[in-house]
Amino acid sequence: MPAGVAETVFLADEAATVAFGSALAGRLPHGALVFLHGDLGAGKTTLVRGVLRGLGYTGSVKSPTYTILEPHDLPFAMVYHFDFYRIADSQELDFLGMDELLSTDALKLIEWPERVHDRLPAPDVEICMLPEGGGRRLEIVFHS
Ligand code: ADP
Ligand code: MG
Repeated sequence: MPAGVAETVFLADEAATVAFGSALAGRLPHGALVFLHGDLGAGKTTLVRGVLRGLGYTGSVKSPTYTILEPHDLPFAMVYHFDFYRIADSQELDFLGMDELLSTDALKLIEWPERVHDRLPAPDVEICMLPEGGGRRLEIVFHS
């Protein structure tokens, strides 16, 4: 967990994760780069679903585990949802055009950023999710 925890919250169930993400959407800087840390099943994709709900998206939210990137072109924001779990070689990011994607003012939410840490700039916001009891502990740091 990065130093300087700004906020920690207990999320008792999936609905709490979605609600937190939905409220968080309005607090993220425009075009933010957001790292989502946490093991498989920690709730990262669920949190992204909440953020998307907060931005008005009502459709289904697929995990980009296989596609690496799921873009969402929403009325008020472009959102890039990445999952780098299956990236074996950070050169795969070249095929994705990652540098160009990062340079846009889309909201960029990244699961498993540590898989390609050498290829990413410093994030604006970092979130860690950990199992706690039957729910999740979420820690969030705003760097900008
Ligand atoms: P990840 O993307 O980190 O692998 P997911 O978002 O796919 O994790 O979530 C894995 C499971 O965790 C889902 O079944 C989801 O319903 C559940 N989950 C999400 N948030 C919570 C929570 N606060 N408490 C309990 N279960 C949760
Ligand atoms: Mg996921």
